[in-house]
Amino acid sequence: MIPSPRLVVGNWKMNGLCEQSSHLARAVAEGAQALPDDVRLVLCPPFTQLASVHGIINAAGPDTPLWLGAQDCHTTSSGPHTGDISADMLSDLGVQYVILGHSERRQANGETDALIRRKVEAAEAAGLVPIVCIGETMEERLEGRTTTVLATQVEGSLTDDFNGVLAYEPVWAIGSGSVPPIDELERILSLLHGLLQSRLKMDDIRVPILYGGSVTPAQAPTIFSIGSLGGVLVGSASLEAKSFLRIAESA
Ligand code: PGA
Repeated sequence: MIPSPRLVVGNWKMNGLCEQSSHLARAVAEGAQALPDDVRLVLCPPFTQLASVHGIINAAGPDTPLWLGAQDCHTTSSGPHTGDISADMLSDLGVQYVILGHSERRQANGETDALIRRKVEAAEAAGLVPIVCIGETMEERLEGRTTTVLATQVEGSLTDDFNGVLAYEPVWAIGSGSVPPIDELERILSLLHGLLQSRLKMDDIRVPILYGGSVTPAQAPTIFSIGSLGGVLVGSASLEAKSFLRIAESA
């Protein structure tokens, strides 16, 4: 069964000055009008561009499939945390989703599963939908530790009643041009569905699972051929409106 709506999340990372970001968001908003109803696009610009992208999404009208996401938040709602941004501040700005635990933050900022879980709690308390990223490194994959790594991350990063989105992003696939073979991806998706069943203390689990890592317009149709896939998390291909929209057309 194809989960509805399918999510196509654009993670702009640390890219985009004012003019360029507005131009990109406007081009996506314009092209997105032609997309079918069951596709939802989430634009995740850097903090500095959230307000202007929010304005562009609002101007696109109530029927736009565009939603707004951020790339991180703090564990608490306010206080002496110089340079940090809280989930409440994001919510106040009109943000609806927040990416948490991206491998670039796990690696470069030393984010642990425990810290990510606290961010998930903060995001949920502020009414945001957390998109929690998990994934193994190439070394872990070669050592046959993928299952253990994913199980540990699901156990540690999610809350007991997690109601957000899970993004499977093999670290080795991000920005590399390589995507896991489709049968491997299918196997991992069913593993993750099983891990969610045993991790979450709820009967009705509706956590969409996204794939992320070198998603391009050329790869998207094959990736979306996996019926149980909830969507994709797109990095570099989301920085170009045409390629991002072509990916969304395959959803
Ligand atoms: P990529 O990035 O599409 O450029 O590989 C994906 C991500 O890091 O979320």
